[in-house]
Parts: sequence; structure tokens; C-alpha cells
Amino acid sequence: MNLSSLNFFRSLRKDNKQFAVIGLGRFGRAVCTTLHRLGYDVLGTDIDEKLVAQALTDQIVAHALQLDSTEPGSLREAGIYELDTVIVAIGNYIQESIITTLNVKEAGVPHVVAKASTEIHGKLLQRVGADHVVFPEYEAGCALARSLTKPAILDRFDLDPDNSIVELIVPDEFHGRTIAELQLRSRYGLNLLAVSQEDKFEINPDPRKRLERGSAMVVIGCNKDINRLPI
Ligand code: ATP
Repeated sequence: MNLSSLNFFRSLRKDNKQFAVIGLGRFGRAVCTTLHRLGYDVLGTDIDEKLVAQALTDQIVAHALQLDSTEPGSLREAGIYELDTVIVAIGNYIQESIITTLNVKEAGVPHVVAKASTEIHGKLLQRVGADHVVFPEYEAGCALARSLTKPAILDRFDLDPDNSIVELIVPDEFHGRTIAELQLRSRYGLNLLAVSQEDKFEINPDPRKRLERGSAMVVIGCNKDINRLPI
């Protein structure tokens, strides 16, 4: 995660419960579904009436409206300018995506996340004021490549380009050895944060604990050191 993303996520209000998602393609629907499941109030909009009706039928939004988001008046009427966070989930229609982002930023929406389909699209979105730009296809491609080459890594959180927190399957070599014996800090420069215990994690595990093949462990450290683990 880079520093501008960090500033963006820090600026989000914790008590914000309302979101609008503009564009109900696969990406927009996934955002709606997750927000709705988490208990947030989501307004979904699309220019395509069928997609709006589908979102209501599938109950992935609290409200849904058919509108053309390139028209500032339609966005105003829908109440979108009063929301704290708007997600512009239009990837292929670059002109519409840029105009929509410009509309919501000019109207003063404080947090605007926009989906970009290419690097230049991302730059344009930033120029018109998007607070956070995501590249879902690019990010999914990177994540797939990582999981194909390092299947033992279950999940990772990039702190910056060089350092990460990684959840991985305990390597065979570590099976039956205590945390103290493994000397992860001196041998690998890594700190062990947690070890899985059935379906829960034990945080700051006891150094006398023996690791077991097939369970999971969470470490923090630099990527070069993580790559030296026997996985
Ligand atoms: P997917 O998420 O399925 O990969 P995508 O991110 O590539 O799709 P697009 O197909 O570009 O996204 O568009 C997403 C949605 O945005 C579509 O359902 C489309 O109807 C909608 N859309 C396009 N233009 C507008 C507009 N002017 N106003 C509102 N919605 C629009």
C-alpha cells in the first residue's frame, strides 16, 4: 500500500454507513454485495435499467436507481452528492468514467474511489480528483501470479513495496520444532505474529510452542527475507 492510499483510508470516516456505487458491472456488483452484506446502506446506480432491476432482485443494494452519471443534475437528484463515499465502477467507458468522477468531485463528495482499466485511465482519474484509484484486473493478475508461484502463501498485506505481513502454511521443515528453536528473527530477520490453532489464531505465541505441518503462521518482515523461507 502506498502512502497516498494510506492517507485515503485514514481519512474515511468510521461512522460512515452510506455508499453509492455508480456502475453495476461485475466489479460494481461485487462492491455492492460486500458492503450490503457488511450491513452498509448502498445506493447502486447504472444507466442500464436491467442491471438496476437485477441488483434489486438480488438484494445486493438497499436502493437502486437508473441514471446517466455523466449528467450532474441526475446525480444531484439521486442525492449522491450528499454521500461521504462514492465508488465509480465504470471501467470500459473511459469518457463516462472521467466525467462521472469529475461530477462527484466538483460537487464536493469527499471520498471518491474510481476503477481504472489502464494506467493512462488511472492518471486521468487522478487529474480530475479521484481520491483513490483501483486497477482490479491488474491487482488480481499480480495476486494470481504470486499464489501460483508461492502456493504456501495464503494471504499477504503489502506494507510498502519492500515489506509485508504474510500468512503462510507452516513449512514441512518447521514441523515439530518450537518457535524458539526456529530462530526466525536471527536466521530470517522475520517476526512471528501469530500461529493458527484449529480455526483461531494465537497472537504472540509462546516461544515453547511447537509448530505443526499444515497449520498457518503469520510473519512480518521484508519481502527478500520472506522469500528465503523454505516454502
Ligand atoms: P465489469 O465490472 O463487469 O468488468 P467494467 O468495470 O469493465 O465491467 P463497464 O462495463 O465499463 O465496467 O461499466 C460498468 C457499468 O457502468 C455498466 O453496467 C454500464 O452500464 C455502466 N455505465 C456506463 N456508462 C454509464 C453512465 N453514463 N451512467 C451510469 N452507468 C454507466
